[in-house]
Amino acid sequence: MSANNHPTRDFHGSRPPKSDQSNPSSRFGFEHFDLGPALQRGIAALGFEEPRPIQTQALPAALAGRDVLGLAQTGTGKTAAFALPILQRILAAGPQPGPRALVVAPTRELAAQISAEIAALAKFTKIKVATVFGGVSVFRQRKALSAKPEIVVACPGRLLDLMGQGIVRLNRIETLILDEADHMFDMGFLPDIRRIIAALPAERQNLLFSATMPKEIRGLADRILRDPKVVDVEHSKPLETIEHALYPVESGRKVALLERILAADETASAIVFTRTKHRARRLAQQLERSGHRAVALQGNMSQAARDRAMDGFRKRRFDVLVATDIAARGIDVQGVSHVVNFDMPNTTDAYTHRIGRTGRSNNPGKAYTFVTAEDRCLVFQVEQRLGATIPRRQVDGIESIPFPLGRSDDRGSQPLGRPQGRPQGRSSPGNGKSNGRPRSRRARYRRTSTTGC
Ligand code: AMP
Repeated sequence: MSANNHPTRDFHGSRPPKSDQSNPSSRFGFEHFDLGPALQRGIAALGFEEPRPIQTQALPAALAGRDVLGLAQTGTGKTAAFALPILQRILAAGPQPGPRALVVAPTRELAAQISAEIAALAKFTKIKVATVFGGVSVFRQRKALSAKPEIVVACPGRLLDLMGQGIVRLNRIETLILDEADHMFDMGFLPDIRRIIAALPAERQNLLFSATMPKEIRGLADRILRDPKVVDVEHSKPLETIEHALYPVESGRKVALLERILAADETASAIVFTRTKHRARRLAQQLERSGHRAVALQGNMSQAARDRAMDGFRKRRFDVLVATDIAARGIDVQGVSHVVNFDMPNTTDAYTHRIGRTGRSNNPGKAYTFVTAEDRCLVFQVEQRLGATIPRRQVDGIESIPFPLGRSDDRGSQPLGRPQGRPQGRSSPGNGKSNGRPRSRRARYRRTSTTGC
């Protein structure tokens, strides 16, 4: 899938960009898109000065009514890339019965975030947005739907419930947006998505966004998109502003290691990912006891408690959010300085999603992963995806464990990110004190790295 990096290539009759490439002071701003003055005001009020690459590439096609397949991580600005075209379309056609646009998202947090961004962009219009997701009382959602919103942002389950009760009808939808389609697939939502799509008018515009493209999502895209404009903003590559590091450690020493890192690094705001809900809860309690402003975010919590945790973390009442993978995608919190994989994620995609919570909006970010011996295969896969070796590090006073070097050993690839710790040479597989280690042992690790995974 090739990216079209040329912002002007398929403008589809929209006003041509006026940017003067010969004049270095000229910039390509939002005024070059066919967006009404109310939307331009909304964009300015949000402080957006220049479109992000995904916006430059997707907006012209979407504004011209084309389907779009957007391959983009969260944090790239994809919400505005689909929100602006739907808002412009609604404004251009004038008042009509709705809802006229449907955004489907996998998690409540993402749905709430999308609604907030659409509402902010639409601040100077009369367009109304209703947000629909489970886990909370249906009362306010019914009220929002009865106010005749032009746009509905929904998670699949609650939307189907409300459709079943005749509270929402989708027969006037002109634009469908499926956001985080890969995540919806992971969560088992594809059958729900098919049922929702079956209730929509056949004639409509479709915008599908996904950070990764498993074959099931490719199949869905093939079925619903017509001659889509494909926009690929290096979806599987981590942001370059992120510094990655691996900390090989015994399971029982992870808490001590985390404490040391939180104390030593200037950790403004950290998300710590654990494998299970139980571990997230317990670790947040442990950190709290040792004086951190920590809070858990995991699926066993009530929606109100999840909202309190997210809100408190956004507003910096908490410095550490200990979360399961429900916080791995879509969530946009400014200024997250660290993502710590307390437990290695289950897949390379999950690694990409988790670390995408930091290094956003060109800010520097750190992605630290605690690894035990059993994580080595997944580390190799992640390094293969990244095309680079993740530097191994250790913290004084916390014993490291031997950990194979992976890709750099076989291919001499460059370490990833901007490591600040000591460089890890060939003789130092992960703990920086292996100089006296017998060669045969290292050779064994290397064999494992190429044959065992
Ligand atoms: P998203 O990938 O849609 O979650 O966007 C990530 C963050 O970037 C959000 O906080 C947006 O408000 C912000 N954003 C989107 N577009 C722009 C832009 N053109 N300039 C500055 N910030 C933006």
